Amino acid sequence: MTQSITNWISGARAETTSGQQLPVYNPATGAVTGQVQLSAQQDVDAAVSSAKAAFPAWSNLSPLRRSRVLNKFLALLNDHRDDLARMITAEHGKVFTDAQGEVMRGIEIVEFACGAPQLLKTDFTDQVSTNIDNWTLRQPLGVVTGITPFNFPVMVPMWMFPVALATGNTFVLKPSPLDPSPSLFIAELLKQAGLPDGVFNVVQGDKDAVNALIEHPDVQAVSFVGSTPIANHIYETGARHGKRVQALGGAKNHLVVMPDADIDQVVDALIGAAYGSAGERCMAISVAVFVGDDAAEKVMPKLIERTRELKVLNGTNLEAEMGPIVTRAALERITGYIDQGVQEGAKLLVDGRNFNGQTAGEGCGDGFWLGGTLFDNVTPDMRIYKEEIFGPVLTCLRVKDFAEAVDLINAHEFGNGVSLYTRDGHIAREFGRRIQVGMVGINVPIPVPMAWHGFGGWKKSLFGDMHAYGEEGVRFYTKQKSIMQRWPQAIAKGAEFAMPTSH
Ligand code: NAD
Repeated sequence: MTQSITNWISGARAETTSGQQLPVYNPATGAVTGQVQLSAQQDVDAAVSSAKAAFPAWSNLSPLRRSRVLNKFLALLNDHRDDLARMITAEHGKVFTDAQGEVMRGIEIVEFACGAPQLLKTDFTDQVSTNIDNWTLRQPLGVVTGITPFNFPVMVPMWMFPVALATGNTFVLKPSPLDPSPSLFIAELLKQAGLPDGVFNVVQGDKDAVNALIEHPDVQAVSFVGSTPIANHIYETGARHGKRVQALGGAKNHLVVMPDADIDQVVDALIGAAYGSAGERCMAISVAVFVGDDAAEKVMPKLIERTRELKVLNGTNLEAEMGPIVTRAALERITGYIDQGVQEGAKLLVDGRNFNGQTAGEGCGDGFWLGGTLFDNVTPDMRIYKEEIFGPVLTCLRVKDFAEAVDLINAHEFGNGVSLYTRDGHIAREFGRRIQVGMVGINVPIPVPMAWHGFGGWKKSLFGDMHAYGEEGVRFYTKQKSIMQRWPQAIAKGAEFAMPTSH
């Protein structure tokens, strides 16, 4: 029997009222393992009103008491790290060690959020004018929502709710319907940690649930992570309905190889960053840019060999380097891009369409399998260069010099992550300063900022002003208030008509 995946409202599982559900698959085998219930407007209303009712008490707790709950949650998460990782592998398909890494990166944000008392400390000016003091408060917004993608079902929700809860908000999570199970497990751990009912809620579903949330009059802010067209829709609709919005979108991340780069390090970086998680990471490297033909000539034979030799296996196998694609529809979209690349005239060096799922492990014959795919002689006008493929497809381009590499990347519509491989400090510094991309790695292939630095791209990779987590996350989930105070004994008689100034 397959499991039925419900909402989580007021501290308990809650059946949805729509009567609709979607199958959840194990991508490695193609088997249906669950049914996720879809939420209708009234389910979203129930979750939001539960969060609204919980807000006054939760926001009024001292930050230290809120962070004690998060500390208990942190301990429970650490006890259940591998349970969560197994859940991710079962519904997303990524290999178990990668899923463990995902859980760890989520845990780091919880660790950061446990510092709420320090994070909420503000500034104070004694004697801003004679007998007057002025200080700043950061107060929570109210009910906030997080809408998350399939590719990080634990980490991306944890970019949001730990910081939102630590700062005194109550939360409604809308996970991806493709891998919804971890959201309920997280809700149960939060309850065990002592989180009051209603502070954290989950609504399962898709478009209808999202639209009900972003238009809801009682939702104050929306954090979204997903594809660019939906991010744009969320940003515009949320803003039109008076909400604060941060909407992180898609990506096309380049790795630039300078002629002086260490060739073996470049090959390792490209293989791991292009094919890790089957390329289904918003920080995956999907474009290699070779500066000069020399570097390309040295790297390409090794890249071909390593791409062919990738261990594409069921993610539960600890030998696996790459697992399946998340759904059959995604697999078809990616193979469509490979067909397109061939038609556009790119040189297909390794064709992942030849991969046969039978070799991925027992029972994998009907899974959603694709091997690593490598294209050379790609040009900037090709769709396989311009668009986000979000699969294990690496496209290689050649440019004549460093300036051309920078211009190429700066002309791209996305600006999420980028990486440069070189031994030249001056080139690295110039790159960091000139590149129009939000997250830059120098000899680092996937420069995902740590919990206290904040995550966010530029251009069509982020709609809104503030990045996720870190200090920007704290700012996003709080509003600033300035209080100026004077006591009656110090008030001089007589009205003042000139603009108050310090005296
Ligand atoms: P998606 O945009 O299809 O879905 C994201 C969320 O939006 C899901 O919760 C989904 O249910 C909801 N949704 C889908 N269609 C909708 C619609 N028409 N109206 C309203 N809501 C809708 O993204 P995905 O396929 O789950 O995830 C992959 C995408 O996410 C990639 O583009 C990837 O680059 C991006 N991503 C970006 C980041 C980042 O930090 N920039 C991080 C992870 C993933």
